[in-house]
Amino acid sequence: MTPPPALDTQLLSALSAVLGRPEGTIGLHEPEFAGNEWAYVKACIDTGWVSSVGKYVDEFECRLAETTGAAYTVAVANGTAALQVALRLAGVEPGDEVLVPTLTFVATANAVCHLGAIPHFVDAEEATLGLDPDALADHLEAIVDVRGGRPVNRLSGRRIAAVVPMHAFGHAMRIERLLEVAGVYAIPVVEDAAESLGTSYRGRHTGTFGLVGTLSFNGNKIITTGGGGAILTNDPELGRRAKHLTTTAKLPHPWRFVHDEVAYNFRLPNLNAALGCAQLESLPRFLAEKRALAARYRTAFADTPGLAFVDAPAGSDSNFWLNAIRIKGGGKEAREQLLAAANGAGYQCRPAWDLMHTLTIFSDMPRAGVAVSEAVAASLINLPSSAKLGVAKV
Ligand SMILES: *Cc1c(COP(=O)(O)O)cnc(C)c1O
Repeated sequence: MTPPPALDTQLLSALSAVLGRPEGTIGLHEPEFAGNEWAYVKACIDTGWVSSVGKYVDEFECRLAETTGAAYTVAVANGTAALQVALRLAGVEPGDEVLVPTLTFVATANAVCHLGAIPHFVDAEEATLGLDPDALADHLEAIVDVRGGRPVNRLSGRRIAAVVPMHAFGHAMRIERLLEVAGVYAIPVVEDAAESLGTSYRGRHTGTFGLVGTLSFNGNKIITTGGGGAILTNDPELGRRAKHLTTTAKLPHPWRFVHDEVAYNFRLPNLNAALGCAQLESLPRFLAEKRALAARYRTAFADTPGLAFVDAPAGSDSNFWLNAIRIKGGGKEAREQLLAAANGAGYQCRPAWDLMHTLTIFSDMPRAGVAVSEAVAASLINLPSSAKLGVAKV
């Protein structure tokens, strides 16, 4: 019996089967501007409406509402700002704890800290890579006292004010089960859907299940506004507050400057919203191309005995924002070797984020057991995933 080829050979032959041989480097995720981007941005410059006033912000918010099904959408400066305001809308106050997956981008935890609150890290599950609602239920049962109707971490004495599930790499986590678990303690759910524009869970768009949801339009996301984000909610009062809080809390008046709260200047400039309108027009094509690319990776990695394609979990109609593989039975050392081989051959591949609880800035924060996240992080590699790579080569 011939032994299987070395892991780096398995990886490189699958990558070249899907992507061909790179001339230069094939990036991890590159934006594409093939539609009305130039025309809309030029219209901003031609009319002088580049900043906080102009028609594209309203237009972008309307189109986002259509795409996601959220009743209210507020465009903001970036996804981190969206999370910060979403958490504030959910009632998070300084000194509270907020449950956050340790397997996430740093923005999720930073937003909690920006409010003076404390991230409390919880584990992911294998099947979705998102927060594990059942492990969370066990953890809450072990640590929560309900005092005066409020869930309190009995180890720290602090209130648990929110939970922030994240749909990792565009795959939906089990948001309905999470809503049940959080509902037992009346903990508000703020969904970090930064990576999952275009992904639905059982037919409903991610980011619209929780009390509030957030999106990001950073340069590496499925659509980009250069930098940008959005707050989604179905609650009219929260929608109104989201707009008010992100636009300096100014009361409408023809000439006076009356502000009724200390608020934020987090609005999305018209210039960026113009780019966003054009990008949203391309979203259906991006989704089709990204799903086609994922299908080709799925086929290529069906033949690699040591590497497994990370597929969409049950119930998730994924956008496949970032494709990923797992090294079967592998750890960090194999991962580093494979990353060196792939990047050396011109395929830009990346590991998952360093887990939040391992960052020095968060090392003192409370946490649950995180064994699954550690296993995932040690064995996961993200693959080049730009939409254009999904266009079938003739
Ligand atoms: C991109 C991203 C954000 C938001 O990032 P910004 O760069 O501030 O727009 C938040 N959470 C996750 C998981 C992300 O991937």
